[in-house]
Amino acid sequence: MDTGKRIARVYVDVAAEGTDKPFDYRVPEEMRPVVEVGSRVRVPFGTRKRMGYVIEFAESSSAQRLKALSEVMDIIPPLTPELVELARWIAEVYLCPVITALHAMVPAMLKGKYRRILRLDPGFREEGLLSEGETRLVNQLRKQGELSLEQALQLPGVNRSLIKGLILEGRLISEERAGDRVTRKRITWIRPALEREELAQKAEKLDARAKRQKEVLRHFIHEPEEVPLPALLSRLGAARSTVKRLVEKGCLQWEEREEYRDPFADKTFQPASPLPLTPEQEQAFQSIVTPLQAGRYHPVLLHGVTGSGKTEVYLQAIMEALKAGKQAIVLVPEISLTPQMVERFKGRFGDRVAVLHSGLSGGERYDEWRKIRAGGVQVAVGARSAIFAPFTRLGLIIIDEEHESSYKQEEQPKYHAREVARQRCIHHGAVLVMGSATPAVDSYFRARTGGYEWVTLMNRVHGRPFPRVDVVDMRQELKEGNRSIFSLPLREALADCADRGEQAVLFLNRRGFSTFVLCRECGEAVGCPHCDISLTYHRSNRTLRCHYCGYTEGMPEHCPSCGSSHIRYFGTGTQRVEEELARSLPGLRVIRMDVDTTHQKGAHERLLSAFGAGKADVLLGTQMIAKGLDFPGVTLVGVIAADTTLHLPDFRAAERTFQLLTQVSGRAGRHEKSGRVVIQTYSPEHYSIRMAADYDTETFYRRECKLRKIHRYPPFCGMFTLLFSHTDRAAVMRAGMKAAERLKPFLPEGAELLGPVPAPIPRIKDRFRIQLMIKHDLHIDEWNGLIEALRHLRTGLGDPELRVSIDREGL
Ligand code: ADP
Ligand code: ZN
Ligand code: ZN
Repeated sequence: MDTGKRIARVYVDVAAEGTDKPFDYRVPEEMRPVVEVGSRVRVPFGTRKRMGYVIEFAESSSAQRLKALSEVMDIIPPLTPELVELARWIAEVYLCPVITALHAMVPAMLKGKYRRILRLDPGFREEGLLSEGETRLVNQLRKQGELSLEQALQLPGVNRSLIKGLILEGRLISEERAGDRVTRKRITWIRPALEREELAQKAEKLDARAKRQKEVLRHFIHEPEEVPLPALLSRLGAARSTVKRLVEKGCLQWEEREEYRDPFADKTFQPASPLPLTPEQEQAFQSIVTPLQAGRYHPVLLHGVTGSGKTEVYLQAIMEALKAGKQAIVLVPEISLTPQMVERFKGRFGDRVAVLHSGLSGGERYDEWRKIRAGGVQVAVGARSAIFAPFTRLGLIIIDEEHESSYKQEEQPKYHAREVARQRCIHHGAVLVMGSATPAVDSYFRARTGGYEWVTLMNRVHGRPFPRVDVVDMRQELKEGNRSIFSLPLREALADCADRGEQAVLFLNRRGFSTFVLCRECGEAVGCPHCDISLTYHRSNRTLRCHYCGYTEGMPEHCPSCGSSHIRYFGTGTQRVEEELARSLPGLRVIRMDVDTTHQKGAHERLLSAFGAGKADVLLGTQMIAKGLDFPGVTLVGVIAADTTLHLPDFRAAERTFQLLTQVSGRAGRHEKSGRVVIQTYSPEHYSIRMAADYDTETFYRRECKLRKIHRYPPFCGMFTLLFSHTDRAAVMRAGMKAAERLKPFLPEGAELLGPVPAPIPRIKDRFRIQLMIKHDLHIDEWNGLIEALRHLRTGLGDPELRVSIDREGL
């Protein structure tokens, strides 16, 4: 039999330079039926065996003395030929090695080590076990469930031929498993270590300030049964550290136990049926379904205000895809992947949905991914990387909140999920739906100019009006002597809201916002010794931390620059807002959500549900609280300072500000009670703030497009941003100048090169950073060698310390 698979071209997993090309290997006869394009293989490379991916087959090779493939690693190849092709496209367009793009497509589990796992066959028979070694192995497997091959071979009297014999008799199962992680997760259980009376005595003796500890003890006095730690924490709203202290005092005990992984094991999903569509929704639905049924590529921008029923349209369109025997991918921003969101999909499609989110362990993620690959599910819902879901009959890709910046990957491969989605849809003849209340300016422009079909949903399903938006000029507040974070109107609104027994959400922009320590004598902020950025003050443990490199130090007593003791913290971190809230409106119950209060798994969800259950009057936090706005009790939304995103060194600053404010306002008042929004700002006249407050989307986009066109930014041009970093300040500047010289001859007609200039943050982790920018026309026929020149830029500059990263926009 000749399958034509004589020679396999393989991208090998090595990071060294000069290896970004396929290597040829001979395919041994016995591997030909199993190896495919997209197979993971092991190959001899240099002195070692390496993992790689087969990207194509060939009849002959120019290489002499071909080595043979050592092993085909999976029965079903992890990648499909389409994904292999896509990886090559990504590598080409985003200027990264092919192996990096291939790796981005498979779950982390497949990139780790490979292990052989043994377990008992479900139909295991006892009789006829011969040797002591066999009995020992079987007993051990009974106890542990499974063993790695290495572990089994450690047992006295157990060797390879004994194991092979048991496998052939059908008593043992041998499984290849990727990843070196244990595939089961561990859960900590907590139980009292003392009798009830003793616990009560301990509780009496606790310091009056240890309120939390007392609450936990009281819980066990009433309910002495053991509970999983996460359940305990969420029920009591307690912190892990509180429980830990009680364990240290000998009041409680904890024990870690293994749990089989099933992300939704404790959830039951209510089956839900489709709702009759409104005329607007029906129109949107048709614009998706018609090309879907015809099997032709068709991009649709679904521009619909929040609450206009976009998600319902997605759900029904997916149903049509499934009826046509096709599959669908739904991308949502990570922070929107809440249980409520998952529930809507599970409720409609049950176990035909796989959900990929960052809360999953490596093993859980791998399991979901395998279901997709094996065709066991037809819908994948997930954040950015779910765009690589290995479906083979894609009919529909939906990108919800398509304007979100998290769809852009910030490390290699620096792809934008929207562009990758478009590529996949073209390949499959599938429909691409991009939904948002505030589309990216790029998408808006493409829709305007006919690149996408533009469908609008301008009415809310339940016909509720948008809340009134008041813009408060903080400069005026200051003039009138108000130095507080809170303006008078916001303070009054908060007080009224609490008086009526309603809830408020206070919003603090994450970026460009932190609490820093400033010396009042010399005016210096305490900076990170490794980065050109101020350290952030963390009140809870009185430390200063660098958010870029993690450097931490204690709060200094004296100014590091002048020695003055007049130093204090400034700025408006969430902790600071919380304190000031307590001062100006005592008695308000506040839940704070930020990186400090949510770093534990599940904390995010726990805080939100506490708020939803009415356990606080105010939810305070960064972007991550957006979902808190969906609660019916919320009637007031305050934006502490709207201009923080305005002054970022990013041509999208105005767009981001507009989007954020519109999203915030749009989400408020979705329910029975009418809502109100108060935006505090130092630039009330800025068009992005004014037009967001007026809900004047159209004018904003027109204005923004005009400005982008004048200043030549995407979507009116393509752009490469080159970031150079080096440990030596002079060397990085030299490299930048040299690069500029080298690139100039390759610039295509109409392109311009800007820089080198210092990057927005000129130093991070002791590396100095500079930036170059190339702007070019959108549709270029003749690149004049620029792409190649960029690809080899780093090597060409010949400085091993130098790092170059290239970001591309405007494909
Ligand atoms: P969006 O995704 O645009 O924010 P949703 O799809 O979440 O909007 O819809 C907002 C609310 O309206 C949801 O509670 C949803 O269940 C409800 N809804 C959507 N479409 C309909 C419909 N056709 N009939 C009745 N209720 C609907
Ligand atoms: Zn730092
Ligand atoms: Zn000083």
